Order: sequence, then structure tokens, then C-alpha cells
Amino acid sequence: MSNRTLAIIKPDGVRKNVVGKIIAQITEAGFTVKGMKLMRMSKESAQAFYEVHKERPFYGELVDFMISGPVVPIALEKENAVADFRKLIGATDPAQAESGTIRKLYAGSKAENAVHGSDSDENAALEISHFFSRNELL
Ligand code: GDP
Repeated sequence: MSNRTLAIIKPDGVRKNVVGKIIAQITEAGFTVKGMKLMRMSKESAQAFYEVHKERPFYGELVDFMISGPVVPIALEKENAVADFRKLIGATDPAQAESGTIRKLYAGSKAENAVHGSDSDENAALEISHFFSRNELL
């Protein structure tokens, strides 16, 4: 799975109606979509997904944000997927993100930052299986 990563277009990106633009930017950067859905996360699912941030002061806010509207999880494939996708989305805080990155273009704040990208190959595999069963993946 080292050539795969999980992207999520977060509720703010769906609300801004830029899902198509974000997917176009991702595929133009050389990623292939291996799985995708439009869905609402349950509170339990969002809590489990961000379990690693449980002790952070913003955990509750983060979970509430992620269930505030539909999200679009996308399983992506490309050589060096995790690192290349992190580069494409830019820094967590859009104010710090490089120009042309997805967060610079579409994120409003550090909290509501349009997209998620896995931070390691190990987490990419776990995160893809959080959203997709085997028969939902190419
Ligand atoms: P990422 O790997 O770039 O997504 O950043 P982190 O792993 O540090 O944080 C996970 C997510 O938590 C971010 O993408 C934001 O949506 C959210 N987040 C980070 N910092 C803050 C904060 O200070 N306040 C709130 N409310 N959310 C935050």
C-alpha cells in the first residue's frame, strides 16, 4: 500500500462547492482515484479516525467540524503517494501553505482546511480501510 494515500475533502470544501476543482487538481497532479464516496461521518467514526489527536485541545472541535456536513473520502494511488499528496495540499494552516496548493486555494483556516492527507504509509492503509471495504476499491 506504499503507493496509496487517503484524501478527504472536508465539510468546508463540500460546502464551498469545490469538490470537482479539488479532484481535478489531484488527478492533474498524477494521482489515480481507486475509491471515492460522498457521505456523512458519524460522531463515532470521526472520533475513531482522529483518535491520535484525542489529547489535543482541539479534538472536540475537530470531530464536530468533520460531522458538520458531508465529506468526500478518496483513496488515491501514485508513486510516493503520501509525501506527494502532502506537498500538493500544503501546510495545515493555509496562511503558511505554498501558493498553488489545495489548502492555499480553498482552505479558510487551520481548523477548516478543506482537505485531509495521510501522514505515513501505515496510516494511509489504516485510513483507507476506515472508509472503504475491499470491494469498494479498485
Ligand atoms: P494535518 O496533518 O496537516 O491535517 O494536521 P494535524 O495532523 O496537525 O491536524 C489534524 C487536523 O486537525 C487539521 O487538518 C485541522 O483540520 C485540525 N486542526 C489542527 N490544528 C487545529 C487547531 O488549532 N484548532 C482546530 N479547531 N483544529 C485544528
